[in-house]
Amino acid sequence: MATHITEECINCGACEPECPNEAISEGDDTYVIDPNLCTECVGFHSMEACQAVCPVEVCLPDPSHVESEEDLLARARRLHPDKNFPAVDGLTPQLSHFRSPKKKK
Ligand code: SF4
Ligand code: SF4
Repeated sequence: MATHITEECINCGACEPECPNEAISEGDDTYVIDPNLCTECVGFHSMEACQAVCPVEVCLPDPSHVESEEDLLARARRLHPDKNFPAVDGLTPQLSHFRSPKKKK
């Protein structure tokens, strides 16, 4: 599931520099996330970095973009060909929110 920003965004800009994939930009009314660049921070962080900093909690999973951890890691590889990512089975909780103990199965 790519992350998306809802219309309650207050345009503070805090999320934009936190994205490891430069997926976030200023839109017409709110900041927006390009789903083709979002990896839900898989390969980088234990949770979605935008979600972690958003003061009004509007960076949320987008139900219209449901994706597997494997697909998100593959996207991270495509976006960062020079970076060494572990195999999907080697992802740790620090590198994938799918591995978080709190993640609902
Ligand atoms: S979830 Fe991560 S990769 Fe996706 S937009 Fe937010 S910071 Fe960027
Ligand atoms: S951090 Fe939240 S409120 Fe601020 S621009 Fe990003 S989505 Fe909008």
